[in-house]
Amino acid sequence: MNMTEIFEYIDSLEQEMVKTLGELISFPSYRRPPEPGAPFGMPARKCLDRALEICRSIGLKTKNIDGYAGLAQLGDGEPELGILAHLDVVPEGDGWTREPYSATVEDGLLYGRGAMDDKGPAVSVMYALKALKDMKAPLKKPVELILGTDEECGSGDLEYFKTKEKFPEKLFTPDASYPLINIEKGRIMAGFSADCPSEMLLELHGGRTVNAVPARASAKVKGVNAEVIADVIKGMDVNAEFSLSENSDYVEILASGKSAHASTPEFGENALTATLMLLNKINLDEPANRLISGLCRLFPHGETDGRSAGIAQRDDVSGALTLALSIADFSDGRITGAMDIRFPVCGSVGGIGESLGRALRDSGFKPKIQGVEPHCVSSDSPFVRELLAAYEAVTGEKGEPFAIGGGTYVHGTPGGVAFGCEVDGEDNRIHGADEFIRIEALKTNAKIFAEAIVRVCGVNE
Ligand SMILES: [Zn+2]
Repeated sequence: MNMTEIFEYIDSLEQEMVKTLGELISFPSYRRPPEPGAPFGMPARKCLDRALEICRSIGLKTKNIDGYAGLAQLGDGEPELGILAHLDVVPEGDGWTREPYSATVEDGLLYGRGAMDDKGPAVSVMYALKALKDMKAPLKKPVELILGTDEECGSGDLEYFKTKEKFPEKLFTPDASYPLINIEKGRIMAGFSADCPSEMLLELHGGRTVNAVPARASAKVKGVNAEVIADVIKGMDVNAEFSLSENSDYVEILASGKSAHASTPEFGENALTATLMLLNKINLDEPANRLISGLCRLFPHGETDGRSAGIAQRDDVSGALTLALSIADFSDGRITGAMDIRFPVCGSVGGIGESLGRALRDSGFKPKIQGVEPHCVSSDSPFVRELLAAYEAVTGEKGEPFAIGGGTYVHGTPGGVAFGCEVDGEDNRIHGADEFIRIEALKTNAKIFAEAIVRVCGVNE
């Protein structure tokens, strides 16, 4: 089996790959209300239909799973390997200097929504399969591309898929980063609430999404003058910045810090916990005083490992638990909030949830806890080793598996790992403006996948 010839053939397919990716980018396939035959909206359905049509023209056998997902298989019989990519995208958002839904090629980069996440990688898989087919690679076992259409909004596609089809035992998704992710931490989203009638605390707002460290928070307090509050601020050792404005009725406090993803809260400066710390140092009336002080005790500003809430833990393979207090609101005499916790494989939703629930109740809050268990595939498994060997063979770089705090498309699918396609040191602006993929990377990815397929599915020499 001569891989060099296959790689040269992949190089010759560059223009075709660019054209196909451009076509898929032209469907604004972010989630919309369902329509008949289009569970996630018509653009996603049309994008799936077109992708499967191209797969058929390549010579693959295809199947449309009722508009939820699609299959394209090379070889006959039960697939040995599944490669799971997705065709849905997030909406374009603001700030584009190029067309989001029409590919622009400039200086070797292809711009467009989904170029990297995840239409580009899907196209690389399609052309890896085309190369293996056209070059008549004698695979011992079949391989299939699984195309989903709802990765960005909760993976309703896979839920349906699992009721109709089954995943091959060997499964990877090119929807994250190289070299390979074999461990994804577990996640707990915990809410809390308490009645809190107060004459002094008029408002408190911090954070909008549970999975981000809030960069802004605000509060309105009555019965304390701005000078007193300014003195308290002077005595606080925080990097967040405060500004105060006073009128005859109340003082408004605005805090600004730095946002970060909830899986890496240590990179942020939490404006909400800084605001709570400030409120705790002003003597509010009861029960506001006691409740705010409870939150400060459990989630002190600057701490991101859950120590004070009694849930800190770590292990060698996945690192430490992280906790971000991401939302709090006070209005109409009620305080509510939420946090995002990512925990190592040694932990469980039940165990951490129980300790956290107790701590919140002891501080006067009613907890509401839900979560997802960690995902873990052994770094020594032959499948993981084959994928990394393919990565090394094509790129010449050392391939070591790593753990992340976030979840990928294979989270919860036994044995699944994430393999590609982002690389260290390059920001492809996924979910942002001017998302792009290197055209060179489109080809490199196809070569890595072709190499991986040959290694995993075997060839008759
Ligand atoms: Zn993705």
